[in-house]
Amino acid sequence: MSTTNVMEKGMEKSDLLKGMVAVVTGSGRGIGKAIATVLATAGAKIVINDINGELSMATAKEFELQGVDAIAAPCNVTNNEQIAQMVETVMNKFGRIDILVNNAGITRDDLFMRMSEEHWQAVIDTNLTSAFKVTQPILKIMSKQRQGRIINIASTTGVHGNAGQVNYAAAKAGLIGFTKTVALEYASRNITSNAVAPGFIDTDMTKALGEDKIKKVVEKIPLGRMGSPQDIAQAVLFFAGPGSYVTGQVLEVSGGLYT
Ligand code: NAP
Repeated sequence: MSTTNVMEKGMEKSDLLKGMVAVVTGSGRGIGKAIATVLATAGAKIVINDINGELSMATAKEFELQGVDAIAAPCNVTNNEQIAQMVETVMNKFGRIDILVNNAGITRDDLFMRMSEEHWQAVIDTNLTSAFKVTQPILKIMSKQRQGRIINIASTTGVHGNAGQVNYAAAKAGLIGFTKTVALEYASRNITSNAVAPGFIDTDMTKALGEDKIKKVVEKIPLGRMGSPQDIAQAVLFFAGPGSYVTGQVLEVSGGLYT
């Protein structure tokens, strides 16, 4: 399991996001946890969401012990009732939501001809339809606030395709279209919508590929290494804070892969 110190080593604490409440889906571990860490280091209050309740609580506790105003709000991001419960929990505790990071995601890789409809649907549901389901109630809150940042974690696979990942590529490409359309519909309410498209990042998701496959991919990366979850988190921080005049964009964070 990837670990991340709750307050980022070597990163200055700041007040950049002071008073802001950030919901990060799938933040019990991996990239989501790193995003929550970087946003907390910039002063945001943090909502840890994960499908795994115990992991959500344990991660939120880690943040609290470091003095971060954090809560656990576990839910399955494909389930409307659980999402409504999560939003209610956050509003009862913090009374607002300023930043939503749609990060929860899964892979069910196979070549197109062998891809089962079950694996197609699971990835579309978790990686794409979840963003529709989670963002809709939260955009209502952000609209009333006249303030909000939606940041979707897509993938370079959604931009360029990748053999063996037709379900994942379709879901992430869909997420990019979703991002751009929300940007257009909500700009007048001071809500931005952007996507970060990670390349090959060192988490449990990529560890599952095995050493040989990892070595082959790394050989193709111009910067010569896998990305870290923190590399992705820094891009999210830009969209959450300083990048307030940027909307509808996709930032590939991939060490130059596909350049
Ligand atoms: P990860 O280590 O597998 O973490 C994903 C997290 O999402 C886990 O905590 C998982 O919960 C949670 N999750 C899965 N399904 C969920 C659901 N239905 N509801 C709520 N939470 C759920 O993956 P990661 O590498 O950090 O990936 C994070 C995001 O980055 C994903 O959207 C992924 O597609 C994207 N991405 C990753 C890479 C990469 O190279 N790693 C590249 C491009 C894009 P459990 O702990 O219970 O499983």
